[in-house]
Amino acid sequence: MKLYSTLTRGKRDFEPAGDAVTMYVCGITASNSSHVGHALSSIVFDVLHRYLEFRGYEVRRVQNFTDVDDKIITRANDEGLSSEEVAEKYIEEFFKDMDDLNVQRATVHPRATQEIPGILKMIQGLIEKGNAYPATDESGSVYFRVDSDDAYGKLSGRTVEELLEGVRNEIEPGKEAPPDFALWKASRPGEPAWDSPWGQGRPGWHIECSAMALEYLGETIDIHGGGLDLVFPHHENELTQSESYTGNKPFARFWMHNGLLRLDGAKMSKSLGNLVTVRDALEGNSADAIRMYILTSHYRSPLLYDEDNIHTQERAARRLRQAATAESDGSSGESVNPAPFRERYVEAMEDDLNTPQALAAIFDLAHEINRGRDAGHDLTDAQAEMRSLAGVLGLTLAEPEASEDGLSDADVEARLASRTEARTNRDFAAADAIRDELIEAGIAIEDGAGGTIWSRV
Ligand SMILES: [Zn+2]
Ligand SMILES: [Zn+2]
Repeated sequence: MKLYSTLTRGKRDFEPAGDAVTMYVCGITASNSSHVGHALSSIVFDVLHRYLEFRGYEVRRVQNFTDVDDKIITRANDEGLSSEEVAEKYIEEFFKDMDDLNVQRATVHPRATQEIPGILKMIQGLIEKGNAYPATDESGSVYFRVDSDDAYGKLSGRTVEELLEGVRNEIEPGKEAPPDFALWKASRPGEPAWDSPWGQGRPGWHIECSAMALEYLGETIDIHGGGLDLVFPHHENELTQSESYTGNKPFARFWMHNGLLRLDGAKMSKSLGNLVTVRDALEGNSADAIRMYILTSHYRSPLLYDEDNIHTQERAARRLRQAATAESDGSSGESVNPAPFRERYVEAMEDDLNTPQALAAIFDLAHEINRGRDAGHDLTDAQAEMRSLAGVLGLTLAEPEASEDGLSDADVEARLASRTEARTNRDFAAADAIRDELIEAGIAIEDGAGGTIWSRV
């Protein structure tokens, strides 16, 4: 299997270094509801995890929660809650959202606040090695000395000049040099704080991931994942912290970054700030449709949030579902052979997780199943294979729950069949009555050359 690594800027063969694949994926900061961008990243690495298991690997995936941070503190003050309460609320919500999107839990979901001893040990070690220093103004913060790592910038490809450009106006009195970043932040009164050799404070964002990766996966991990927006500074800093501390290179053998979700300014009606929440997206759309919408684009490409596209995927999901449940009398004595489709699917997934091509192979198999049904072929193997391949993409092919008006997909199909029959019999009053009933129930109908297409609105 070939995977692209941001560090080497190319695809190469992937094999785990040890018995199990070790994967670290940066998780959310629990300060807000998860948005579709989080869903995108979670779904991409969920599919990678599932595919590696499909190939027979054991996978150990760690995804953290940043549960102490400036944004959480601000939100806690706004809502009159404690930081812990805010973090707990959004972690719970995250799990619910991911369950509803059929994203499997990671092997471990560690939280920064529960990893303080490991974090302190790492900061202490970095100071001893000359890679970090307590703030020069004795504030009680600790900074990483970027100058101590000649290779700093290798992941993001930034030069020291570019780094200085980004922090030119930043005046932080305790730093030796502007690009240095905080490993430990001295706390102000009333903020969550832990004891440390440098006084009361809390961990910086970057150090928590280095400490958790080391704690749960060891000095070298096979795959480090996250969104493209994390390459700099988060992953660049994680990399230098980990390699400086352990002396073991590389920290991560493959750095995988998913492209980012973009919003079309015109379609932000249900947005939270400028973000569409997972809750919003799941309202009226099935998890299968959302996953298919995300997976019809390659994971490294940017993705435009598009409700219409998700609705289109809803119809596509229904086509797969219908093929998966199609019944044949088997009268021909032949059967539909899924092997060529599986081969195409695997070939696509082996090429840096080419899910658009993998999905195309599943659709072609669905088409073949429908033809086989018409020809009276046995569909058993083909349908089992289709469910298995779709399952690796996290698609359940289950019928979505009935709408609020109680019309299941089958109900809608049955009414549409009656309507077609009424029209054939030129009983237009009956046909219109059925159409009105469906519209009333939130079902949009479009009559075209290829028959009637419907969707939930
Ligand atoms: Zn991280
Ligand atoms: Zn909608």
